[in-house]
Amino acid sequence: MLFYIRACLLAVVTLPMWIGGALFFLFVFGPWTWKKIRWDRGAIMLQWRAWWLRRWPYATAVGYVVGHPAVYCEKLRQHERIHIRQHQDSCFSGVIAGGLASIWGGWPAFAIVWGSSILWPIFDIVSAAVLRNAHPNGYRGSERERSAYAQTWHYGKGQSWLERHRASSDGRVT
Ligand SMILES: [Zn+2]
Repeated sequence: MLFYIRACLLAVVTLPMWIGGALFFLFVFGPWTWKKIRWDRGAIMLQWRAWWLRRWPYATAVGYVVGHPAVYCEKLRQHERIHIRQHQDSCFSGVIAGGLASIWGGWPAFAIVWGSSILWPIFDIVSAAVLRNAHPNGYRGSERERSAYAQTWHYGKGQSWLERHRASSDGRVT
């Protein structure tokens, strides 16, 4: 029961992730960059076109939509799903921050703050670059990216932190 309540809460709270992901992959990295569409446990997967892959050889998650190379290994999949969870956390913060903003600005302020939460990962990249000079392009040094790499990095007996964590949890962590 609690699982379904959580799932419904998550679906509502993370609405900006569906809208933001759809807008991004329709107008920024539009259909000229991707082809095949498939569903993968709560996320929409788009495979890059060959010409785009040569220019952008990365997987990219925006909200619940992930653009990826033709070769999409399990490790990379786990990495992108960590970014999805990070975006979910931003949306949850967005609801709280939007609620506070609505005290002054009403529903429009709530909608603007909550809706913008899909953009908040950008601020992490900026702060990593400005505050810590983390990496020439900021992104790789951001705590979001470091977390995704650290959780999926295989070490010790060949398991990543995420795999160990899953083995000892109820398995709902995807
Ligand atoms: Zn990443």
